[in-house]
Amino acid sequence: MAKIAHLIRVDPGGGSHPKGTRICNVCNATFAQIKSIEDHIEAVHVKIPVYECDFCSETFTYRGAKHNHVSKYHREQNKMKNIPHY
Ligand SMILES: [Zn+2]
Ligand SMILES: [Zn+2]
Repeated sequence: MAKIAHLIRVDPGGGSHPKGTRICNVCNATFAQIKSIEDHIEAVHVKIPVYECDFCSETFTYRGAKHNHVSKYHREQNKMKNIPHY
């Protein structure tokens, strides 16, 4: 999952929103629930797909980078992995 914590701020109260309201740093939309704002940011603002290596925890922003990584570091493992993982 993409890192989105830096896109969320929490209203300290005293303003126009109840204390603890989550505010989207990108478009200033407000949400009462942390889950709602996470869904909002992932759906609306996270445009970069993240590809995760099947063999280690490396992540890549495009498919080609993952492919390069796998063929460089996990070639043997990849050869043996013929079963679809879902
Ligand atoms: Zn937003
Ligand atoms: Zn890897």
